[in-house]
Amino acid sequence: MAIEKVGVVGAGQMGNGIAHVCAQAGFEVMLTDISAEALDKAVALIGRNLDRQLSKGAITEADKSAALGRITTTQTLTDLGPCDLIVEAATEREAIKTKIFEELVPHLAGHTILASNTSSISITRLASRTDRPGKFIGFHFMNPVPVMSLVELIRGIATDDATFEACLGVVERLGKTAATSEDFPAFIVNRILMPMINEAVYALFEGVGSVASIDTSLKLGANHPMGPLELADFIGLDTCLAIMNVLHDGLADTKYRPCPLLTKYVEAGWLGRKTGRGFYDYSGETPVPTR
Ligand code: NAD
Repeated sequence: MAIEKVGVVGAGQMGNGIAHVCAQAGFEVMLTDISAEALDKAVALIGRNLDRQLSKGAITEADKSAALGRITTTQTLTDLGPCDLIVEAATEREAIKTKIFEELVPHLAGHTILASNTSSISITRLASRTDRPGKFIGFHFMNPVPVMSLVELIRGIATDDATFEACLGVVERLGKTAATSEDFPAFIVNRILMPMINEAVYALFEGVGSVASIDTSLKLGANHPMGPLELADFIGLDTCLAIMNVLHDGLADTKYRPCPLLTKYVEAGWLGRKTGRGFYDYSGETPVPTR
């Protein structure tokens, strides 16, 4: 199954990175979002990220303009119909994702593979709402996409071998490494990572340590490149909460109970870096801990 045209739905943190690496690997990319502002920001950010690669000598000026030239944007979801592979990277809410796939299906070619970049939602359930559960897969990139080399490939119960192999080929062409996960809540990376982040928020909530002491402890004490609260801000606190809710609901174990402080921050709209405030305040030159 030859994949040449890749559609990306959602031009947020993940969608722009996915468009960037796909275009750089030579795929024709069509990027869509409901927000024109998100599309403009994404293209500008891809340009800046390519400039950074250029200044490090990792790519040439010609590579940069070729990659940018392969990206088209549209606010009309159904323009993605002719794509061979569509990676959905919209907000982590099942109703939003289901609606996107339902809208897309009547416009797709028979061979098109549908993929979701969801961090936690059941691939089998998302697939069951389409006309092609065999050609549906979890394609989970890590953040920031151009930097992180892992892609988790998640097989739904109905995902067929040809779809899995085709996606494995795409991961290789992107120069990344695939890890395969079965379709259980939050898959592998977030099944392990999110309870740690949630526990860090509990440690803050219970006054065990301040933001700075919790992050310093894990950075210097466990050799993590980022502290858990810094990482939570980077991922987005809404996404972290959504993943904890999926773990809690899906595995029905109280050990996955989202910390009330995490919920409170999301209620306040303090979603981390993307809104300028989370466990740190990003309004100045350097991030300042808020507790
Ligand atoms: P984000 O909030 O940065 O971006 C989401 C984008 O989706 C927004 O631009 C929004 O306008 C757009 N959108 C919402 N509804 C839409 C619709 N109906 N059609 C088209 N676009 C729509 O979120 P993000 O961090 O990029 O996360 C996107 C997905 O990637 C989520 O499923 C998330 O779980 C997953 N993910 C996130 C991370 C992370 O670290 N943030 C890592 C891996 C996977």
